[in-house]
Amino acid sequence: MTDTPKSSSTTSRRERRAAESRKKTEKNDAQEPKRRVARERRFTVPELSTTPLALAGGALGALALGVGVYGQWIRDEPLSYALYLMAGGGAALGAALWLGDAPVYPVRVGDAGVAVERGETARLLWCDVEELSVSGGDLVLRGADLVLRVPIKAHGAAAAHILREAEKRRPKLVRLTSDEANEARRWQGAKLGEAGASALPKRAPVEAIQITGRACKASRTAITLEADARLCQSCSQVYHRRHVPAVCATCKEPIQGRGLRLE
Ligand SMILES: [Zn+2]
Repeated sequence: MTDTPKSSSTTSRRERRAAESRKKTEKNDAQEPKRRVARERRFTVPELSTTPLALAGGALGALALGVGVYGQWIRDEPLSYALYLMAGGGAALGAALWLGDAPVYPVRVGDAGVAVERGETARLLWCDVEELSVSGGDLVLRGADLVLRVPIKAHGAAAAHILREAEKRRPKLVRLTSDEANEARRWQGAKLGEAGASALPKRAPVEAIQITGRACKASRTAITLEADARLCQSCSQVYHRRHVPAVCATCKEPIQGRGLRLE
């Protein structure tokens, strides 16, 4: 350790202060963008993706189809009911395959609307949803050229969360009859009531979003880089970062912090 002259200690104190203030600024910079990134929750596929009924239907259908084929073409004397067995079996097997498995995929819900990960992720921003309804046991989100279905029983927590977000973000879209609304409240309570919000998947930055090629709602400028896109925090309407209006053109909510970025 060497003795430090007074003047140098003043300098180092000044430097220290400057460094501290720099650190503070950096910290604020680091926090700022984080707060303004679009986030969502990902609901994974529930364990039981095929219902027992669909499994049984599929197995019986396959059996009937097999017996029918045997009776019609393999047996020396065709069975009179073989064709019915084949037709019925085929239909049951088909229905089981379609209804049993098709609708259960991971679902994403958050600042960038709802996305269903069916192979390629199909996503509807909140601003593109034209109607939200219940049909055939599914929560159905209808857009101009995309319809998303989320099975209510198999994906209860996701469906309940979609409904809650939709009621908050686009209340006019939610078109449920009073029976459906009661039913929704029931499964909402069942899925979220006991464990509360802590049971929900954690919010993470939005992934698998295709935004390039879309036009800014305010300026019609094409978004060519994802980094240029800014989302309305309420209805996820898309704006070019240079043309973010003070009030969203779609939902009429004031846009906070010049919109949400995509990471
Ligand atoms: Zn909006």
